[in-house]
Amino acid sequence: ANPASLVTVLFHLGEMATATQSLDEDTFALLGSELGYDIQIVSPEDEEKELFNSFNIDLEAVEDEENLQPRPPVVTVMGHVDHGKTRLLDAIRHADVQSGEAGGITQHIGAYQVHVEHEGNDRAITFIDTPGHEAFTAMRARGAKVTDIAILVVAADDGVMPQTVEALNHAQAADLPIVVAVNKIDVDGANPDKVRQQLTEYNLIAEEYGGDTMFVEVSAKQGKNIDGLLEAVLLTADAALDLRANPDRDAQGVAIEANLDRGRGAVATVLVQQGTLRIGDGIVAGTAHGRVRAMLDEHGNNVAEATPSRPVQVMGLASVPRAGDTFVVAPDDRTARQIAEKREAADRQAALAKVRKRISLEDLNQQLEAGKIETLNLILKGDVSGSVEALEDALLQIDVGDGVDLRIIDRGVGAITMNNINLAVASDAVIIGFNVRAEGQNAEYADKEGVEIRYYSVIYQAIEEIEQALKGMLKPEF
Ligand code: GDP
Repeated sequence: ANPASLVTVLFHLGEMATATQSLDEDTFALLGSELGYDIQIVSPEDEEKELFNSFNIDLEAVEDEENLQPRPPVVTVMGHVDHGKTRLLDAIRHADVQSGEAGGITQHIGAYQVHVEHEGNDRAITFIDTPGHEAFTAMRARGAKVTDIAILVVAADDGVMPQTVEALNHAQAADLPIVVAVNKIDVDGANPDKVRQQLTEYNLIAEEYGGDTMFVEVSAKQGKNIDGLLEAVLLTADAALDLRANPDRDAQGVAIEANLDRGRGAVATVLVQQGTLRIGDGIVAGTAHGRVRAMLDEHGNNVAEATPSRPVQVMGLASVPRAGDTFVVAPDDRTARQIAEKREAADRQAALAKVRKRISLEDLNQQLEAGKIETLNLILKGDVSGSVEALEDALLQIDVGDGVDLRIIDRGVGAITMNNINLAVASDAVIIGFNVRAEGQNAEYADKEGVEIRYYSVIYQAIEEIEQALKGMLKPEF
C-alpha cells in the first residue's frame, strides 16, 4: 500500500495521520486488520531473543536452583570529581591478599578482582576500573546490567557536592544498594558526621542513624580502613542481594572495554555473568565475533577459563565490540559469524527506522492504563537551582492517581547533557528543560534514542501539562 492510501484507511478508522508520521502499536494493528494483515510488533529485545533461538541458544534459560553457585559482587565506584575515586581504586588494588604472590595487579584491563578474608572465608569482589557514573549509565542505556553495588565516595573535607548527588541518583535509578566511603578522613577539617547528615536528605540513612546504609570512613591516600570498606561491601551484598549464577553452561556476559591493539588485534575485556568462558570458545560480542584465542587476567597472567563475575581480557575477536555489548558463546564459529552478521543488519535497520519515543507525555495515560508502565520518571534540568527546586516541589504535589508513581530520578543546573539522556534511556524517563535546552549533538542524540524532552519557562505550565498527561488529556504538539 502506498502512503496516501494508508492515510485514507486511517482516516476512515478515525485516526488523523500524515504520510510521514510514526504510528503507535494499536493503530498499526488496527490498520493491519483493516487491510487483511495480521501485524505483530516485534521489539528489538524480542528480535534478539528470536535470533538466538533460531540458533538454539536460549538467552533466558531459567536456571535450576541446584545449578546456582554464589558469585562475587561487581562494584562500581562513583562520586564527585577529586573526592578520591581513582585513588580508592588503587588502594583497593593494593589491599588484595593474593597480590603478594601474584606480583600485584599490574594491568589496567577495565576491571579487576580482589580477594579478602570475610568471616573465615576467602571472598572475591570485582571492581569496575573506570570510576564515575558516566560509563556506568552509558552501559545501562545500552541495556547492560553490569554492577551489583555502588560505592559512593564523598570527601569528608568537602561534603556532598553536585556530582555526589548525580552519582547517587544514577545508582538509585538502577536500584543499586549503596555503600558510602567517607574518604580523606586524614585531612584537617574532615567532618565525616556532616557527610552522614547531608546524605540523610537523599534517603541514604547511616546505620548509626537507624538507617540501613553502611558508611565507612577511609583514607585512600593512607590506605586506611580499606579492609573495612570491603567488609561493608560483602555485608551489604549478603544482606541485600542474592548473587548466584550457573558456572556449568556456555558463557554469557558484557564487554566492558575494548580496543584495537597493534600487536594483538582486537582486545576486549569481558565480564562473565553466566557460565564459564574457555579458550577455544566461539563468541559473539555485539557485532564482533571470533574464537577465544587467549585470555589474560588483571595480573597479566594467562587464564584458561573464567567463571561468573570474573573479568578477563579476550584475544581473538575479528573486530572491536563496544562497551556495554553483550557477549555469548555460540556452539561453533560459523554460528558466531552468522549471529554477528544478523546483528549488524539489525543495527542498520534500527538506525534507519526512526525510533519510537520510549515514553512520551502524549501517550503516557495509555501506557499507564495498559499497565506498560507504573512510574513516570522525570529528569529536571534548569537554569538556576532555585527554579529546579521550585519545579521539583511543585511536581511532587501533583495528584498522580492510584497505582501511579511520579519519581524525579535526577535534577541539576545547566544544559541537558549526554549523561542526562543516557539516564533517561536507561530509566525510561522524560526530561524537563526549564529555561535550558539540549544543544546540537545532544539534541540529535536524544532524538535518535527516542528520549522525550519537554521545554518550559513557566512552572505552572509544566505542572499543567503533566497533570493533563496523567489524565490522558494532553493535546498533541504539532
Ligand atoms: P577522583 O577525581 O575522584 O578520581 O579523585 P582522585 O583519586 O584523582 O583524587 C583527587 C585528589 O585527592 C588527588 O590529589 C589525591 O591524591 C587526593 N586524595 C584522594 N584520596 C585522598 C585521601 O584519602 N586523603 C588525602 N589527603 N588526599 C586524597
